[in-house]
Amino acid sequence: MSAGRAFYIDEDLCTGCGDCYKVMPNHFADTGEETAEVTSCNGADPVRVEEVMKTCPGKAIKWK
Ligand code: SF4
Repeated sequence: MSAGRAFYIDEDLCTGCGDCYKVMPNHFADTGEETAEVTSCNGADPVRVEEVMKTCPGKAIKWK
């Protein structure tokens, strides 16, 4: 089993729209400060991560 590729959020680019944690709540969360954070990369489907990366308005989600 692969742990998958790791990803992170550049908080300077995050607009706090909430799309990432609404779509993938097991991997992203609201920081409570109008930004989002990565809570876990484990088991994330890379295809779905790529989709969230594309729809993120700030292009804030990046591969490590
Ligand atoms: S989708 Fe992008 S801009 Fe929206 S909360 Fe997540 S990281 Fe921030």
